[in-house]
Amino acid sequence: MGTSRDYQTQGVILKQTKLGEFDKIITIYTPEFGKLRAVAKGACRPKSKLGGNIEPLTHSLMLLAKGRNLDIVTQSQTINGFLALKNDLWRMARALYILELIDAFTIEGTESRLLFELLLGSLHQLSEPDSNETALRYFELHLLHYLGYRPQLRRCVTCDSPLKPVINFFSPAKGGLICPACNSEENSRYEQSDTIATKPSFPLSVQALKVLRLWQSCDYVTSRRVKVKPGLSRELEQTLCEYIRYIVQRELKSLTWLKRLGKENVSL
Ligand SMILES: [Zn+2]
Repeated sequence: MGTSRDYQTQGVILKQTKLGEFDKIITIYTPEFGKLRAVAKGACRPKSKLGGNIEPLTHSLMLLAKGRNLDIVTQSQTINGFLALKNDLWRMARALYILELIDAFTIEGTESRLLFELLLGSLHQLSEPDSNETALRYFELHLLHYLGYRPQLRRCVTCDSPLKPVINFFSPAKGGLICPACNSEENSRYEQSDTIATKPSFPLSVQALKVLRLWQSCDYVTSRRVKVKPGLSRELEQTLCEYIRYIVQRELKSLTWLKRLGKENVSL
C-alpha cells in the first residue's frame, strides 16, 4: 500500500543519465509538477521492472516516493512508447528535438498543463504517417508563446507602427519584427559601433510573415492546411531556430543531428 509520501503522476520522459553502477536519474515533464527529476533505482539491472517505461520518448504513468533530495520512481507503466517515432531515425530526431527544447526552456517545479498538452500532442502529430516540418514549427511557436517569448509579428518592435506587407526584419534580441525604416537606422548604428557582437536582424519575406502569423493563432489542424514550399519551409525553420538559439544561448545537440540527417536526405 502507498503512504502519504507516495504520489502518482503521468509524464513524458525527456532524458536519463546513469547514476552509479545500477541507478538512473530521469527527467520527466509532467502536467502537475512541470519538469521533475527523479531517481530510478536499479534501472540499469537486466531484470529491472522499470526498464523501458522510463526510457526517453515514453509517456508513462509513475508512482514516486518523496526522497530527501530527489524523489524515487517506485513503479512505472508505459501509456505510449511512441514506437512509430523510435523505429524511424528521421522521426526520432524530430521528437528528440522537441524533448530537448522542453528541457532547455523549462525549470524544475514550474507547472504548465498547456505545455504538457503541447508536448504530448506534438509527439502524437509527429507519429502520424504524413507528418512534416509544420508539426515542429507549430510546436516552436506555441512553446515560445506559453513561455513568454511569443515573437511580435504585428507591429514594429522599435517604433510600434503596424507592419506593412513588405520585407521586414526579424530581431532575435528584440523578440520580433522591425520595419524597414527602423532597421536601416539600426543597421547604420551597428556599422558604426564595434561593441555589438552579432548582427541585430535578418530579412523575413511577406509570405513567411503571413504563415507565422497564422500558425501563431490557429490550431494544429488548420496549420496543416497551409502548403509550404521547400524554400519557404527553410526560411521559417531558420527564423525560429535563430530566435530559439538567441534565447537558450547555445546550439541544441538534437538540432545538429536533425540538420545532418536533413542534408543526408536531400543528397539521396
Ligand atoms: Zn519601426
